[in-house]
Amino acid sequence: MTEPSIFTRILDGEIPAEIVGETDRVFAIRDIAPQAPVHLLVIPKTAEYRDVAELAAGDPALLAEMVALATRLAGSHTDDGDFRLVFNTGENAGQTVFHVHAHVLAGGLTEKSVGA
Ligand code: 5GP
Repeated sequence: MTEPSIFTRILDGEIPAEIVGETDRVFAIRDIAPQAPVHLLVIPKTAEYRDVAELAAGDPALLAEMVALATRLAGSHTDDGDFRLVFNTGENAGQTVFHVHAHVLAGGLTEKSVGA
């Protein structure tokens, strides 16, 4: 059996984190190492999909639900509702947790903070 991902452990309450938004199938937390004034992670509750490419192929409605929650949270965490949505996909692109998640980055972003 594979180990549960860090995000599954957070969802199960094994690792503390404040859930800042949630739907039936998606939840959001603050990134522990923020790369922008607003840096949230939007994560499906299922760990079935490793990355956004797998998710888009396997359950596009779930991907749309992630984008909808990201949009809603950007609306409540920023003045203007503008945000960047980043899916690191693959180890060489900086992905470290292979349970698909979106980085929601906003507020005072500069070009330097793109590579979160
Ligand atoms: P990745 O590098 O896979 O695109 O993103 C994983 C993100 O998860 C990183 O930005 C990292 O800071 C964040 N992260 C890793 N462990 C934890 C944790 O225990 N709590 C929270 N809130 N974020 C975490």
